[in-house]
Amino acid sequence: MVANNFLNIVANLKQANKVLVLGHIMPDGDDISSVLSLTLGLKKLGKEVIPAIDWKIPSYLSEIDEVSLIKSFEEIDIKNFAPDIIAIVDASSPDRVGRFSQYLNDYNVLVIDHHATNTLFGNINWVDPTFGATAQMILRINRELEVEYDERLALINLLGIETDTGFFRYSNADERVFKDAAALISLGAKPDVIARMILENKRLEQFKLLSRMIEKLKIESEGLLAYSYLSKEDYEELNCTDEDSGGFVSEIRSIKGVEVAIFFYEYTEGEVHISFRSKEWFDVSKVALLIGGGGHPRAAGASVKGKIEDIVDEVVKLTISEIKNQKP
Ligand code: 5GP
Ligand code: MN
Repeated sequence: MVANNFLNIVANLKQANKVLVLGHIMPDGDDISSVLSLTLGLKKLGKEVIPAIDWKIPSYLSEIDEVSLIKSFEEIDIKNFAPDIIAIVDASSPDRVGRFSQYLNDYNVLVIDHHATNTLFGNINWVDPTFGATAQMILRINRELEVEYDERLALINLLGIETDTGFFRYSNADERVFKDAAALISLGAKPDVIARMILENKRLEQFKLLSRMIEKLKIESEGLLAYSYLSKEDYEELNCTDEDSGGFVSEIRSIKGVEVAIFFYEYTEGEVHISFRSKEWFDVSKVALLIGGGGHPRAAGASVKGKIEDIVDEVVKLTISEIKNQKP
């Protein structure tokens, strides 16, 4: 599924004077990178641009000064700003923009995304799942708009490519990813700065939380499935927040022989986020879609309300049967 409206999106952005750039709830590196790269690019062309996300920005990303440009839902007076365009990046369905979704019917909405599960909810959609990161799509938009890159923009644009490819380790790290990264490095981006900021910036409490997660780890489907969960109490007891468990699902996937990893976490009392990852053949986005989420074949997620133990039971059962279906 490719909704290829690249040139149409570029033409619309070129004409616009005022743009509201939206990212998704529970923002990750690619989302922040895409929001800021598009914002900085359009600002360089003299446009009035406001970036906004209806969620707390993870603190490891606030080390990037430009993150302070991103407004919260409460800070946006959309009627007063009156954008010509709302550009939504890295979000596969309207619920992913949080409370901003209520405005989408009233504006010209451009969707730029790389999720195969995208519902094409914009007026114009450029959706291409062959890209490892939405940040690569923003790079192409900026190039077509002839935006001049400086070191900061190059670094911010590279951030999304690094994080969404697991620092060039995942199956989405193809030749084009390396070429785009090389182009941004030529423009002054420093990949090691990003890697250190995200991978080597852990609090000691995070290791205690990791240890708790490992204590609760379970293996199913003859070693193909591994999963664990953390409740709100686990986080509170160890003086942590859900931000401190970023990357735990990748730790689970790193176990030898494991094809499917699931990490459940209660980010708010009674609300659980489920992160799915796989290594080679299992399409986790199928399971995520069944429970109201979405994502990619090797990385997907969903948020569900209920008791965490019940959700774990149900989702594990569902995954075990899906493993039987998909097993090559
Ligand atoms: P994560 O496990 O890191 O939250 O998400 C992995 C992938 O699944 C990301 O590409 C993310 O955008 C997507 N994803 C996570 N949660 C949801 C969700 O609730 N709905 C949809 N549509 N996609 C999600
Ligand atoms: Mn992404």
